[in-house]
Amino acid sequence: MWKCPKCGRSFRNENQSHYCGKAPETIDDYIFMQDEEIRNQLHQVRDAIRDELPNAKEKISWSMPTWWLGHNIIHFAAQKKHIGLYPGPEAVAFFSKKLDAYGYRYSKGTIQIPYSDDLPLHLISEIAGWCRDTGNHA
Ligand SMILES: [Zn+2]
Repeated sequence: MWKCPKCGRSFRNENQSHYCGKAPETIDDYIFMQDEEIRNQLHQVRDAIRDELPNAKEKISWSMPTWWLGHNIIHFAAQKKHIGLYPGPEAVAFFSKKLDAYGYRYSKGTIQIPYSDDLPLHLISEIAGWCRDTGNHA
């Protein structure tokens, strides 16, 4: 683990090249600031949610990529060992059986999706759509 002395972010590789500037203002900025090796996966998650929520506004909220339609619908974030999906506690409860089937860890309002070349994009879309349709607040 290496911590950049300029911006304080931590990376797996020493002297990892990254964007050192201010906090991200857009989802594109956010993804660009992450480790190169996970950016493609983050783009896949972003595209899956965006396709499901074409009318929602994309923004950064709570320092995370967020979809907003009158209120926050869903967030995700790049964590060290997984992608965190934050659809709200009701959604996590509703999808818990499916999450168990995938073997994913989850807790109140949070789902941990391990980095993988085979992300559950279908499930992520389904959760995002459910949050929109039920007015569930993330
Ligand atoms: Zn830095």
